[in-house]
Amino acid sequence: MSARIIDGAALSKAILEELRTEVAEMKQRSGKVPGLVTILVGENPASVSYVARKVRTASSLGFHEVQDSRGADITEEELLALIRAYNADPEIHGILVQLPLPRHIDEHRVLLAIDPDKDVDGFHPVNLGRLLIGGEAVTFLPCTPAGIQELLVRSGVELNGAEVVVVGRSNIVGKPLAVMLGQKGAGANATVTLTHTGTKDLAAHCRRADVLIAAAGVPGLIRPDWIKPGAAVIDVGVNRVGFNEKTGRAILAGDVDFAEACKVAGLITPVPGGVGPMTIAMLMKNTVRSAWKHLRGI
Ligand code: NAD
Repeated sequence: MSARIIDGAALSKAILEELRTEVAEMKQRSGKVPGLVTILVGENPASVSYVARKVRTASSLGFHEVQDSRGADITEEELLALIRAYNADPEIHGILVQLPLPRHIDEHRVLLAIDPDKDVDGFHPVNLGRLLIGGEAVTFLPCTPAGIQELLVRSGVELNGAEVVVVGRSNIVGKPLAVMLGQKGAGANATVTLTHTGTKDLAAHCRRADVLIAAAGVPGLIRPDWIKPGAAVIDVGVNRVGFNEKTGRAILAGDVDFAEACKVAGLITPVPGGVGPMTIAMLMKNTVRSAWKHLRGI
């Protein structure tokens, strides 16, 4: 058996095309476009590169894009004041603070300061609470879990009644994803098992999965004999496993032994080019949604 490879880059491109049309329609109807501010503190190379990609994508969709870069010596109070100013700015519908922040700044306080109705990352406790309730209560879904759900749905994976196993219980991926896929409704309604470092016999859980989602950040954790034949395997892990002198770039690998897993799985995402591009597409989708909500005054 050779797995179908899910092309996250192509799916993300299709979503961005849909959003581009929506932004043009918004501009025609209201004269407004979605406004996104990306706040970068310091010069962490990975953060600089993530922010550059987000800014490029937002600009290509016709957003009002503000990149606000601050030195690593900014105080917590100054950063909080900056966020409050963007909370009050009617041209801004989405506020993104790139993590991690320097050690002297309390990340939790910063995330709490963002207006939940501009929290397009979906990390604010208010939005996580809305996610838990589900249905109409949901405002913004966190981008990586939302990207994974969209990727599964658009690839035709049946989630209704499926056995889903999620490996990893972080607040930004595993936990929200487990809740989302277990909700009643289309593109969900699965029976979800959330596994982690305390799980006894991880292999046995994985072997039961119709949909196996690896988000542990451990290269090669998921062995091919842990995969049920024909299962959909979503590899969220992004692990730097080396450095390519020729390209000057890190060599990336997921949490799944990709080459071997391809022989067993029915469907699989590559790393890179699987979940990563979907995360950015979902950030843009959240910002467009936020702009519509603000324009309609809801
Ligand atoms: P994290 O590092 O905060 O937590 C990892 C989780 O995995 C923990 O809950 C831990 O219990 C579990 N875990 C670790 N080792 C395990 C093991 N041996 N067995 C079982 N469970 C284990 O997680 P995170 O921030 O969600 O990131 C996970 C991975 O996903 C990382 O590689 C990260 O780079 C990647 N990631 C990718 C994207 C994307 O857009 N592609 C977005 C977010 C995170």
